[in-house]
Amino acid sequence: MVKQSVCILLFVFSLSAFSTEIIHAGRLIDTERGKVLEKQSIVIENGVIVDVKNGYIDGKNIIDLKDSTVMPGLMDMHTHLMSGATPSSYTEKFFHEESFFAIRAVVNAEKTLMAGFTTVRDLGSDPKVTRELDDAIDKGVVPGPRLFNAGKSIATTGGHADPTNGVHIDMMKDPGPKEGVINGPEDAYKAVRQRYKEGSDVIKLTVTGGVLSLAKSGDNPQFTDEELEAIMKAAKDYDFVVAVHAHGAEGMKRAIRAGVHSVEHGTYMDDEAMRLMKKNGTYYVPTITAGKWVAEKAETYPEVVQPKAKAVGPKIQSTFAEAYKKGVKIAFGTDAGVFPHGLNGREFEYMVEAGMPAMEAIQSATIESAKLLRVDATLGSVKKGKVADLIAVKGNPLDNIKLMQEVSFVMKDGVIYKQ
Ligand SMILES: [Zn+2]
Repeated sequence: MVKQSVCILLFVFSLSAFSTEIIHAGRLIDTERGKVLEKQSIVIENGVIVDVKNGYIDGKNIIDLKDSTVMPGLMDMHTHLMSGATPSSYTEKFFHEESFFAIRAVVNAEKTLMAGFTTVRDLGSDPKVTRELDDAIDKGVVPGPRLFNAGKSIATTGGHADPTNGVHIDMMKDPGPKEGVINGPEDAYKAVRQRYKEGSDVIKLTVTGGVLSLAKSGDNPQFTDEELEAIMKAAKDYDFVVAVHAHGAEGMKRAIRAGVHSVEHGTYMDDEAMRLMKKNGTYYVPTITAGKWVAEKAETYPEVVQPKAKAVGPKIQSTFAEAYKKGVKIAFGTDAGVFPHGLNGREFEYMVEAGMPAMEAIQSATIESAKLLRVDATLGSVKKGKVADLIAVKGNPLDNIKLMQEVSFVMKDGVIYKQ
C-alpha cells in the first residue's frame, strides 16, 4: 500500500512540473447554478483553475475526460479517520499505542481521497494523531483529503464523548475541559480554548446521547443552555465553526437556539427543530450511511448499544426526507469510521432514495459543504480562481447516482491522485 502511494506521488510530482494542464470534460457540473455544461475545457495552472471555456481547446497537457462527468472535489462533513469500524473498537484503545491509530488513519485518508473526497471534516479524534496527519497530507508525505479537524469532541460528564464511559469505576477518572469533558460555562469556555491551543480547525459537541457510547440513552439532552451559550461565545472569539452530534429533539433545539452551525445525525428532529434550523440557517448533516450500517450490524455491538442501534439507525433516512422537504439546508456527511472509510459515496444513493434530486445531493457535497466550512471562496465549484480540486465519474451520475461510488479521476490542488 505504502509503495503504491509513493509511486502515485512520484507520478503526481512529475506531472505537476508542467505548468499548464487542460481538462477536456464531456460534462461539467456547475454546482453554483445547479446546471450541467457540455464539452468544457478547464485550464489549470499551479493548482488553481485559471479558466473554464466552452468547447475543447488545444494545449500541451490535455487530460481527456470526454467520456466523464467532471465536478468539484467532494466534501464529507462528518468522518472519523482514526476509527476502523471493527467490532473490537471498544477495547482496542486499551491494547494499542497511538501509533496504531495513526497508521490506520493514514490508510483511511488515502481510501477517502481515492473515493473522490478531497476535503473532509474529522469530527472527533485524538488531536495527537489527526493534527500530524493533517500536516503530513499538506506536506505531501502521504496522500489524503484536505482536513478540517475537531480534535477531541466536547462532552459533559457521562455524555456521548466522555472517553471513560462504561469502564471499570477505578479506571473512569474524572476528565475535565482539557480532555474535552465540561460541566458549566467556565469549563465550556476552557474546552474551546483548549481545542484552539491543540490546533483544532472546528468544534464538535455531543449535545445528546449517542448510539455507540457505552451508556443507556441515545437521545437525552446533555448540555445546558448556559453551557451552549458559553461554547458559542468562545467559538466566536476564535472563529470556529461548531458542529453538534444530536439525536434527541430537546438537546438539538437548545443547540440550534444557541446558534451552532450544523446538526449531525438529527434523528428525532421535530417540526419545531426544523423551523428553528430554517430560521437560523443551521445546516443538517444527515449521516444516513452510518444509520443504516449500525442498524444492520446491531448484533455485533455491546448489549447496552444494541437497542439504540436498532432504533436510531433506520430513522435517520426518513428524518432526512422530511427535513429536505421542509427546506432545511443540507450539507453532506456520512460518519465514515462507523462504517469502513472509502464507502462515503453510498450517502448519495440514500439521499436520492429519500427524495433529494441527484443534482442537489452533489451540491450538498460541494458548494453547500464549502459554505458550511466558510471556504466557498476557494472550494466547492469549478470556477476561475478556485483551487483545482476536481473529480470525475464515467457516465452521467445525474441519471444514475450509484456512479458516485465509482469515482475514476481525482485531482487535489492540481495534483492527480487517480486516473
Ligand atoms: Zn460521528
